[in-house]
Amino acid sequence: MLHEECGVFGIFSPIPDNLAVTVYDGLSALQHRGQEAAGIAVNQDRQISFEKGCGLVSEVFGKDRLKRLPDGKIAVGHVRYATTGETSEINAQPLVIKHVKGKLALCHNGNLVNGASLRKALELEGNIFHTTSDTEVIAYLMTKHRLKTPSIEKALIETMAELKGAYSLVMMSPAKLLACRDPLGIRPLCYGVTPEGKTVFASESCALDAIGARFVRDVAPGEVIVVDEKGLRSFRNHCDTKPKALCVFELIYFARSDSIIEKVSIQEARKQAGRYLAKAHPADADLVIGVPDSGLDAAMGFSEVSKIPFGTGLIKNKYIGRTFIEGGQRRRENLLRLKLGVVKSAVAGKRVVMIDDSIVRGTTMRRIVALVRDAGASAVHVRVSAPPFLNPCYYGTDVPSRDKLIACGHRIDEIRAHIGADSLGFLSVDEVLRLYPEKEPSEFCAACFDGRYAAGAPADFFEIRS
Ligand code: AMP
Repeated sequence: MLHEECGVFGIFSPIPDNLAVTVYDGLSALQHRGQEAAGIAVNQDRQISFEKGCGLVSEVFGKDRLKRLPDGKIAVGHVRYATTGETSEINAQPLVIKHVKGKLALCHNGNLVNGASLRKALELEGNIFHTTSDTEVIAYLMTKHRLKTPSIEKALIETMAELKGAYSLVMMSPAKLLACRDPLGIRPLCYGVTPEGKTVFASESCALDAIGARFVRDVAPGEVIVVDEKGLRSFRNHCDTKPKALCVFELIYFARSDSIIEKVSIQEARKQAGRYLAKAHPADADLVIGVPDSGLDAAMGFSEVSKIPFGTGLIKNKYIGRTFIEGGQRRRENLLRLKLGVVKSAVAGKRVVMIDDSIVRGTTMRRIVALVRDAGASAVHVRVSAPPFLNPCYYGTDVPSRDKLIACGHRIDEIRAHIGADSLGFLSVDEVLRLYPEKEPSEFCAACFDGRYAAGAPADFFEIRS
């Protein structure tokens, strides 16, 4: 089973335009949500053309490839990250399918918990799957319902009734752009309008900003929005949308700091994490640094409360693409050194507080602590702007099975010793649910920390663990 982290984007234009370029820009702003594959599909006069492949958006779409896509009125795009070695192009999205009532291009962010059982049932009905992703399950269900219902939005509503888990979907039919969010609203999705009147959907508001669109609002949990020649229509009555369960890991790690998700400023949430850490886990130190990118805001919050100066201690190389990552085991081992540089003049001789967003297996933090010590830091106090990971995520954030999580089976002081830090402090579960004071703790899913799975765990739990 695949664990996917993705970004989705869709656009509807009242008049034909070069939408592929706009989708390209939107996907570039969502690149942090997935670096392994990218794709764009454009609808020109009800015909869907698409291009997709493995790599960063800029790697997949050299100038010429983007030019192959025609002008059109509707377009969708996707960036994808998968972790189980299934990086092949066949799982790249948009997933474009044909059925007797037309074509469909589908982009999905999230993971279903009943994907495997739905797939089994569909296979028993004679369907043959080409990919290993949940998205194809959704595509088959959409087709099945579309053949029996008068409209694509009706088919989507019927499909949603069968899905369990996390899904933010953006798709296009021959005449419509559709978007929906699972009833718990686990993964984000918002929409906006451009000054020329184009409607845009994106996983995060930073992608709307990037193309000059004005943010209108989040797609509500459970909501279906359809955009076509007649305008925009919203459907909300088909499902119960309480309780809500936005993934708290979006705030901690996944989303970009300049995004606003359900009124939560991601940067503000991260700063708040740092403030909590400074109060609960103070340190005698000379400098606070963050591990880029998501550790930086938390480091600022820590500095604000502790009054220890904030500085830039680590620099991230933003230009490492897929070609490098594929370059063999020795190069891969060296990857962290290439990804992160230490500012020696900033850390040498200093007692440093270093903040990162999470510790999964503990490997990365162990190496970063060593790098900072090598650069001359006299002490390294690690603070983590998330609680210890104790449970896998089934909803699309790639928190792996318990046997791979260092916090399962190790005490905090054992983790501290493993990463080689002078001290170690984590955020508490209570604090992580209060990163944004205006929202109730019950409005978030924090299953990876507290084991309370908002949409349940998959029935085929053991299959997924193996
Ligand atoms: P580890 O070396 O296994 O402890 O991994 C920790 C590193 O992985 C941290 O630098 C995190 O920022 C990063 N990380 C944490 N969660 C995820 C995730 N779901 N997807 C990708 N990277 C992650």
